Amino acid sequence: MIIKKRTVPLELQLLKSNRARKKVPEKIEHQIITLEKGFIGETIFDQRMESLSLDSLTINDLLLETNRAHYQIDSLLISPPKIHIFEVKNFEGDFIVKGDQWKSLSTGKEIKNPLLQLSRSTSLLRQLLQQLGSNLTVEGHLIFINPEFYLYEAPPNLPIVFQPQLNRFIRSLNAQSSKIYDTHHTLAKKLLSIHIKKSPFSLLPAYDFDELEKGILCGECWNGFMEIGNQHKLKCPKCNKWEDKETAIIRCIEEFEHLFPHMKITVSTIFDWCQVIKSKKTIRKILSKRYKLIQFGRSSFYVKL
Ligand SMILES: [Zn+2]
Repeated sequence: MIIKKRTVPLELQLLKSNRARKKVPEKIEHQIITLEKGFIGETIFDQRMESLSLDSLTINDLLLETNRAHYQIDSLLISPPKIHIFEVKNFEGDFIVKGDQWKSLSTGKEIKNPLLQLSRSTSLLRQLLQQLGSNLTVEGHLIFINPEFYLYEAPPNLPIVFQPQLNRFIRSLNAQSSKIYDTHHTLAKKLLSIHIKKSPFSLLPAYDFDELEKGILCGECWNGFMEIGNQHKLKCPKCNKWEDKETAIIRCIEEFEHLFPHMKITVSTIFDWCQVIKSKKTIRKILSKRYKLIQFGRSSFYVKL
């Protein structure tokens, strides 16, 4: 059973909206490509894990803090007596491992050893479970999801699952006996409740409201600004996606909230932000449906219900 589905990382969304609304340095472009590639790899992994049939609970994309250290778990599987954690890498190309050193063969450059990251997360999660009074054991797995990846000189005892081994790995999980009880649901809820929503690792470029180009970004390609299609729909000139006006406006308001958590949501700000909607009445109607109006004389604003 999936307790928490994976969604597009907030950092990636914010970077893409920055890229569409202003000129960004090449560094940001690279960051977007890396995050996007990672997310695609994780999504492919999720699809493969759909064939899991053992009694279990899955929590995707968990950001935790234990003893003041933050760590990210791509996927966590509670299948008593164990908790499996998965670090998913969408690397491509030839790499070589020598002891603790990992190198790309094409560039010769050393890369961050993904096994160290995995063992750190495993150890921190173990400590957290102890603090929570759980006696489940933790097993970490490094998944290389891309068929174009090859690792030279990898000893067979490493906790790595290569893409061609994934089917067998899932079959071996399915062959294990596992039974979920209420205590495991309670543990999953507890982990979800301490999940950190805003990543302390995210590196966003500096931006402000005035410099960003206004308009409703297309939710499909994150590249075009929606234009009026007909009375009820907007359309993207870049990818031709048609969308219901209200859905598009709501997405645009949410994007505004994420980009400017300290700015007040007012009819005029959102009217300005959406640009393409020519009626303040429409904006007010949508805001009133989903937000609560805080009356403050001339400067009334809306807050989440
Ligand atoms: Zn589009």
